[in-house]
Amino acid sequence: MRSDLPTARLDPPREAAPPCRLCGQALPAEGETVTAADIEALYRQDLGMDLAALGCAPPAARYHLLQCPGCRLRQFSPDWVAPPAVYRALQVHPWYYQADKSEFRAAAAQIRPGQAVLEVGCGSGKFHRFLPPRVAYLGLESNTEALAQARAQGLDVRSLDLQRLAERDPERFDVALAFQVLEHVPQPLAFLQDLARCVRPGGLVIVSVPADDSFLGREVNNVLNMPPHHCTRWPDATLARLPALLGLQAVQALNEALAPGHGRADALARVLRGVARLVGRRTPPLVMLSRQRLLRRALGAAALPLRAALRLRSAPRRGHTVTVVMRKPGSFGP
Ligand SMILES: [Zn+2]
Repeated sequence: MRSDLPTARLDPPREAAPPCRLCGQALPAEGETVTAADIEALYRQDLGMDLAALGCAPPAARYHLLQCPGCRLRQFSPDWVAPPAVYRALQVHPWYYQADKSEFRAAAAQIRPGQAVLEVGCGSGKFHRFLPPRVAYLGLESNTEALAQARAQGLDVRSLDLQRLAERDPERFDVALAFQVLEHVPQPLAFLQDLARCVRPGGLVIVSVPADDSFLGREVNNVLNMPPHHCTRWPDATLARLPALLGLQAVQALNEALAPGHGRADALARVLRGVARLVGRRTPPLVMLSRQRLLRRALGAAALPLRAALRLRSAPRRGHTVTVVMRKPGSFGP
């Protein structure tokens, strides 16, 4: 039957939340929310990107950030995953594929000359120059432009699916790494299991993620820490459960110190968390003033003096990244 009633953009009634992406436990139905309209506005204002024009229209109007009661992983629901065009647009920013990261040095220190190394999501191959000599290196990358840049340096980088590699060539590598990849992956358990399958007994699995127990977990308006860029957020409690979930042994978790360039973001996160607690909230909202660019800039500029005025400096200041090193049990030794 035809209706001439006006229609509004509404989500369908929310069904029961899907199970946890990592441990499978039932998730709470509700959590902090962020609207697609705010995310699209932040992409336009902060990054000059039009998501719809990049073939990345939102499938729902609102996204819930749900925390698993079991493994504590924080995860957005429903799914909104960025296509390769979004990554091609982001890579024009010099900070997107950085040439030097603390996790590169931390991971390279675990690798010995002559070992076989797999890097999943290797971008343009920035990690390779940190490796010791005579390493047999294979990189996987789906961004075709980044892949071409890596190959231009003579690196063996392929557009292979990790699952297919794990099935075809299990236990081929001494070390399998993924830097800043896990948080983009809609099914992180399967990804981690495949990464572990690629490693020989006694070999290492090394993953780095944005540390959700740093300023990142309390940041407001960080549009790259939400869908469609990130599907999940990784607190220390979740990372501590990874070895048991994957049948691996914990070796090390390495926390990056706060980079000078993140001082303002850390200060603003502390100020906003203090304000949130004053008004009875546990955390600030995910997005604030997204349509008010000048007000947002003023808030950012005021962050450092505000933090000083409120004496919010005492707690230890953690940096952006945490790197977890795990060993596959087995008889071949380290
Ligand atoms: Zn879980």
